[in-house]
Amino acid sequence: MDVYGLVGNPVGHSVSPPMHEAAYDERGLDATYVTFEPAVDEIERAIDGADALGVAGLNVTIPFKQDVFEVVDPDSLAARIGAVNTVAFPDDGQPVGYNTDAVGVTRSFSHHDVATDGRQAVVVGAGGAGRAAAFALADAGADVHIANRTVERAEELAAEVDGASGGGLDSLDSTVETADLLVNATSVGMEEDETPVAADLLHGDLAVLDAVYTPRETRLLRDAAAVGATPIQGAWMLLFQGVEAFERWTGETAPIDVMNDALRDALE
Ligand code: NAP
Repeated sequence: MDVYGLVGNPVGHSVSPPMHEAAYDERGLDATYVTFEPAVDEIERAIDGADALGVAGLNVTIPFKQDVFEVVDPDSLAARIGAVNTVAFPDDGQPVGYNTDAVGVTRSFSHHDVATDGRQAVVVGAGGAGRAAAFALADAGADVHIANRTVERAEELAAEVDGASGGGLDSLDSTVETADLLVNATSVGMEEDETPVAADLLHGDLAVLDAVYTPRETRLLRDAAAVGATPIQGAWMLLFQGVEAFERWTGETAPIDVMNDALRDALE
């Protein structure tokens, strides 16, 4: 049996096990997906141990995405983002690190028939999710603006991303107006019914992806729907990062609908 898993601390609330196990069942794969919770300073030993034990693949979440980056061989996208959320263990050689959050962003848009090439995108946030979104959208042909509470972080990220600009949250006032795509990559909206983007900046030509997936309908998404924009739940990003990981690990096409149903049930 192939063993896959999620490494994080804490991981108790994860919806990844049912999502991946539904895909193994659907494809008839003899595989399981479990959670691992190493101590926060034990990630290097955890990856080495998994490699030695023949673990087939790992997802990585908070607080390990940057630390894992240091102990695997990142592909070029993960190297630019500086974070890894998916590890594959080839039969020979070092574990390979991918960032499937990035693909999660672009596939969320394409699944909703939203084009990215040549479009104006605003990414709010410059942490792990913001970095993944900014690189993914620039690679997909969008002109990217990054707005972040800590201005320096946005400016530093913008300097790394092709053609991107950066600014503080006040830069939303002048950039959302002409944007086609908006991504909330901050944690705002998770704990409180708050939004990082004032409702009166939103307009009907926007597609709005909120990386926050609990709650599923954030205030930002409700505000987006109210002005006729296309709201895209963070659950889609979560789904497509998992789809991408499944496909990289198994070489098979992921059963997207089955994974989506399992994910939605787990998020209930
Ligand atoms: P992170 O690296 O800790 O970054 C947090 C970001 O949020 C930073 O840009 C931070 O700004 C900003 N922020 C935090 N509190 C804020 C506030 N009160 N006002 C304005 N900005 C604030 O976290 P992350 O890993 O990028 O995750 C961000 C969110 O994305 C989380 O909700 C996470 O669950 C979600 N996420 C979802 C998926 C998915 O598949 N749907 C995948 C990854 C992450 P500063 O730089 O100023 O601190």
